[in-house]
Order: sequence, then C-alpha cells, then structure tokens
Amino acid sequence: MKGLIIPAEFVANWNNAKPCHYCKGICEKMYKNTGFEPMCRPCAEENVKDNPDYLKGTDFVTDARFKCLAKACNATGLVFKEFVIGSCCYKAFLKATEEYPTTKIEKDVYRVLTVAKGFFNASIGRQQDTLGKMLQQK
Ligand SMILES: [Zn+2]
Ligand SMILES: [Zn+2]
Repeated sequence: MKGLIIPAEFVANWNNAKPCHYCKGICEKMYKNTGFEPMCRPCAEENVKDNPDYLKGTDFVTDARFKCLAKACNATGLVFKEFVIGSCCYKAFLKATEEYPTTKIEKDVYRVLTVAKGFFNASIGRQQDTLGKMLQQK
C-alpha cells in the first residue's frame, strides 16, 4: 500500500524534513539511512528494499508543517495528520476526504469521524436554532 503523501507545494515550514528523493513529497513516516538520499517510507520500500543496507535505515515522523490547501484558510502550522484529515476548516475537510480517502487512514478514522461529527453537530445546532426561532415566531 502506498502511504499518504503530501506534495511539497503544501509545506509551509520544512523544519528538519527534506522532500523525498523519489516522489518529491512528504510522507508522515520518512526513512533515513546514512548514504541514502532522503526519502519517504513508502518510496524506500519501493525503491531500495533490495539494497543490503536497507534494514539499517530508520523511520522517523516528519516534523514539517503544512499549510491548508484551501486558499481562503490561513492555517500554516498543520502537522501531517491535521493536514490529511483537514482539521483546520470545513473546506480542507471536504478536500481531504476526496484526496485522502478515509479508508487509507485506518488509524485516523476515529479522528476523522470525530471531526465530521463536530461539523455535523454545529450545522444541526444552527438548523435547530433557526427552527426554534421560526417556531417562536408563530
Ligand atoms: Zn516518496
Ligand atoms: Zn484550512
């Protein structure tokens, strides 16, 4: 399974991260090995698995920060998970569910549902307010 990869254009702050040599993006889990180009874990599995030094490499969670893919949103400090679940705004959430289907984020499904529930409840709350006001006016 190919992991979730965020294209470099959405990186707001690289911190210690470097783009993957192969896909040019950032994966939550990056792979590090002395003498190897920087690369993400999925690309490492795809490209250097046959290298005798492959097993000497280690995984680390990227510390890059991402900016929201919605132009109207000015979130720039998103960690990987926040970006792929679109936690900063509704637009990002909708886009994230298209581009990063929830089935691929097994561990985060619960969080996605929690975020979705939050938006849903907020919208139901507004509808109930409106309904309540309409009823009061009668
Ligand atoms: Zn890669
Ligand atoms: Zn956003």
